[in-house]
Amino acid sequence: MIRAINLHKHFKQFEALKGVSLEVAKGEVVAIIGPSGSGKSTFLRCLNRLETIDEGLIEIEGEELVSTDYQGKVQYVNENDARLICQKMGMVFQQFNLFPHLTVLQNVMEAPITVKGVKAQEILPVAQELLRKVGLEDKMATYPSRLSGGQKQRVAIARALAMKPDIMLFDEPTSALDPELTGEVLRSMRQLAEEHMTMIVVTHEMGFAREVANRVIFMDKGEIIEEGTPQEIFENPSQSRTQSFLSVVAE
Ligand code: ADP
Ligand code: MG
Repeated sequence: MIRAINLHKHFKQFEALKGVSLEVAKGEVVAIIGPSGSGKSTFLRCLNRLETIDEGLIEIEGEELVSTDYQGKVQYVNENDARLICQKMGMVFQQFNLFPHLTVLQNVMEAPITVKGVKAQEILPVAQELLRKVGLEDKMATYPSRLSGGQKQRVAIARALAMKPDIMLFDEPTSALDPELTGEVLRSMRQLAEEHMTMIVVTHEMGFAREVANRVIFMDKGEIIEEGTPQEIFENPSQSRTQSFLSVVAE
């Protein structure tokens, strides 16, 4: 579903990604862990073209988004194709980015209507069903300012799903939440995983990574240092940097 090879990304002189490669199969749940500033968000943002890469190759479901020729020149596909390719991925951020002037239901219906041109009466039952799924059927007419952080984040998940993505990218979706609200968001994510959604989840919820991910990636300083099954990474990490990170974050 995702093929990212040798991604490099600079911010001025600073090298945020130093040749990151990752392939994700259909239905796989990949958790990315690592210290703050290690390039986790940058990697996700490069996958869906919120950031452009300086070198490397990205293919989504077999379709090339960007490649690098033998002279080292980075080539993105045309704007229209790039947009269609990136629409296959839904993204949920740490901040929820809901539209404050729209109700919960309108927030979920907005992108399919404005981006895809879907008719309101067509997306309405889909949006209602998604909101039921994340446990917010009684909040459809509510405005975001009246919701808790956990509720807002579940709206954000429903909103991303309304675009019918094949892949979901999560960037620390619970780290802005009070601890008592993380569980309800993680439950919605776990449910998605059980339905075999292909997911990349950047998270500091080690319990979630351990229980839900098929594969765990440890990043540090712009590189993938180690990857393996949750059991391998959490119980028997081979790299000293992974070991010291886990000893610090261990709950
Ligand atoms: P993480 O998500 O692992 O905490 P990020 O991918 O956000 O790390 O950031 C990796 C590094 O790149 C950090 O040192 C950060 O300061 C830097 N960085 C990220 N985005 C930008 C940007 N837009 N401009 C300059 N530096 C950035
Ligand atoms: Mg980040």
